[in-house]
Amino acid sequence: MRKGLSADLISRVLGGAPKYTLAELEAKYPPRDLPDGAFVTRFAPSPTGYMHIGGVYQALIDYKLAQQSGGVFMLRIEDTDTKREVKDAVKVIEDSMHRFGFEYDDKEQYGPYFQSERKDIYHSIAADLLARGLAYPCFLTAEEMEKIRENQKAAGFPTGIYGEFARDRDISEEEIVRHLDAGEVPSIRLYSMGNPENKIFCKDAVRGSIGFPENNEDIVLIKSNDGLPTYHFAHLCDDHFMRTTHVVRGEEWLPSFPLHTQLFRMMGWQQPLYIHTATIDKIDPETGKQRKLSKRHDPEANVVFFLADGWPVKAIIDYLGNIAASGYEEAKVKGQVKSFWDFELRPKKIPMSGVLFDMKKLEWWAKEYIGTLPVDELVKYVRDWANEYDAQWAARIAISPEYLKNILAIERDNPKRIRKDFITWKQTLQEVSYFWDDLYVPNAEYEFNKDVLNAFLENFDICDDKDAWWAKIVEIANRFGVKNGDVAMNLRVALSGRTNTPDLYSIMQVMGKDRVIGRIKDIING
Ligand code: GLU
Repeated sequence: MRKGLSADLISRVLGGAPKYTLAELEAKYPPRDLPDGAFVTRFAPSPTGYMHIGGVYQALIDYKLAQQSGGVFMLRIEDTDTKREVKDAVKVIEDSMHRFGFEYDDKEQYGPYFQSERKDIYHSIAADLLARGLAYPCFLTAEEMEKIRENQKAAGFPTGIYGEFARDRDISEEEIVRHLDAGEVPSIRLYSMGNPENKIFCKDAVRGSIGFPENNEDIVLIKSNDGLPTYHFAHLCDDHFMRTTHVVRGEEWLPSFPLHTQLFRMMGWQQPLYIHTATIDKIDPETGKQRKLSKRHDPEANVVFFLADGWPVKAIIDYLGNIAASGYEEAKVKGQVKSFWDFELRPKKIPMSGVLFDMKKLEWWAKEYIGTLPVDELVKYVRDWANEYDAQWAARIAISPEYLKNILAIERDNPKRIRKDFITWKQTLQEVSYFWDDLYVPNAEYEFNKDVLNAFLENFDICDDKDAWWAKIVEIANRFGVKNGDVAMNLRVALSGRTNTPDLYSIMQVMGKDRVIGRIKDIING
């Protein structure tokens, strides 16, 4: 600890008098009135204009822990790095939260939830630390720090501002005044009392207690260029005064864990419990090795990739949910739970490493999910997707939404036979595209038996029920000495261009008399 600064000097150092005392902040943001065991979580992205699938994974864990415990889930926008700010980035984040149904607290009692609007809070806490000699103004310039760094490197010391290298650590009030009079704006640094020879134990909900060397770096709390806090300081202030009980964040924050624990202990505040999530990996198609999903190289790192491709958000939730809570798939298959929201997510079981993003597995969840959707819902999702991402499909559907519904109703609503051929909304439309005349592609390879097709047309009656229709096919097969299936295949390929389709009778019923006759005639005459 060093000598604390006077109130006047603190105001000068911070560019204004602090708005609150710590006691006032405690009163303004009191402990939450929630049932025992309720989790208070937050998703805290930086607005970089991009929503990483790993962010969705974290937000899902956050939301689920709050939801299943009757707690609160917050969305906190960490916009203190003004250089990295991207226009509309907050919209991208909020939009993802809505799409996935991660409804966050909007009562603002513990807000504001934009860090850039919380400067008064950070400065008030910094003022308290300055007064108690736990922080100090540092006037080192970028060049001076670079020099220190070079010298440290040359001498083989760890780099950073600590101990003897922290020039202003014990700066006197007179010197501070001199710097301020010269127009210099300081950063506010922690006066670290940690000693790397000692160990500090940090509690992670998944990994248990982890021992680290104590932190001795005088890290920056408030930046000199914009007066905004660093992540470390903002995390301390916000997660205390937002009364966060569980911090779910990426494992890249593990090295900062001792520092954060030090900060909470210094304040005498109860530290939240941490869940450091593993990074999401993929198998590199070139090397065959497992590596982190890269924002720069892997389109599937961006959640927009999945949305634009029409992956059902519920399938993504199921898939990511099963990664976080590994027993979920089994419970779902056994019918013990209906959805991820009914399955308990236990923090202890969240994987620490080796989280592999497997498209094949996501496909499985998507097929299961779409397979059980009632036709009206399926139509709605497919239509919503087209309206947003594919104008041509949207226009086609708008002409006759009923047609789409009849198509998608084929072999649906039969609990005994769940169709598993639909994976995404986009691919669903591609699967059934042959129903539209402008998308139907006649099969040029198939060798049609034109006698069979002619015979079918002679007796075709769209009003036949399925038995009567089938009897006619059997009759044609007998007449021409071919198998029933051959007759059906000729018709199937003539109507769809494909050798594999759902129920042929239903296809004809949905296509209607004129289309069926027209397509078969075209093949005969072609
Ligand atoms: N803004 C930080 C990040 O995006 C948040 C980490 C945290 O959740 O505390 O990594």
